[in-house]
Amino acid sequence: MRKKMAAGNWKMNGTAGDLGEIDALMSSHSDPSVDILICPPATLISPMKTRIGDGAIHVGGQDCHIEQSGAHTGDISAGMLADAGASHVIVGHSECRADHGESNDDVRAKARAVWDQGLTAIICVGETLEQREASNTLDIIIGQLAGSIPDNATGHNLVVAYEPVWAIGTGKIPTLDQIGEVHDFIRARLERRFGSGVGRSVRLLYGGSVKPSNAAEIFDVSNVDGALVGGASLKSSDFSPIIAALEASL
Ligand code: PEP
Repeated sequence: MRKKMAAGNWKMNGTAGDLGEIDALMSSHSDPSVDILICPPATLISPMKTRIGDGAIHVGGQDCHIEQSGAHTGDISAGMLADAGASHVIVGHSECRADHGESNDDVRAKARAVWDQGLTAIICVGETLEQREASNTLDIIIGQLAGSIPDNATGHNLVVAYEPVWAIGTGKIPTLDQIGEVHDFIRARLERRFGSGVGRSVRLLYGGSVKPSNAAEIFDVSNVDGALVGGASLKSSDFSPIIAALEASL
């Protein structure tokens, strides 16, 4: 059985004054039946982890360099994220692919760097609106999965997030049928490449404008094992009902 996951991506938002959001999440979900992960800016990983203490919430990074150390001003390595308390690292987010010109090869090298530190990589894939309108969604997904996921994936070291670029931060989401079609397709591709045992054990998250009002219907879709949530993860008053919807879907 795949354990469901609610992951929050704070992006470049949050300072020390926002750490209190974690307290509210910890008190509402002290014994969660799903994995809860928050990926704050790197500056908050260590204080967030300290604040969580023995609590059940995991902390993750939003990106990392392919090397573990060296002359790369401004970058951060997977080892540094691990040292700060991260258990997961998002790689290949569409904002990184676009802002930093990241290729599938870059994403694969980052995922390897994450695995080298014993952490779990959340690898993001997803089509642009132009690609969807040209009916190229599944071809794009094939290329991103093949190019971005290293060999030797397992259900422990890999989570895949399907995030249509046009749904991120826009308030628009694909139809439930479209989400189901892509998630079923990703599952089939993973099974084909890694074998059915591993392919069935990797969690698939949907990401893009998930909110308290649409979470339950999205969590009902086949092969959706949870969500990667941006804007609605910043406030516990939004993220907590999304977690509750995931728990209710079990
Ligand atoms: C994201 O950035 O991964 C994301 C899904 O953002 P939002 O939920 O704000 O659309």
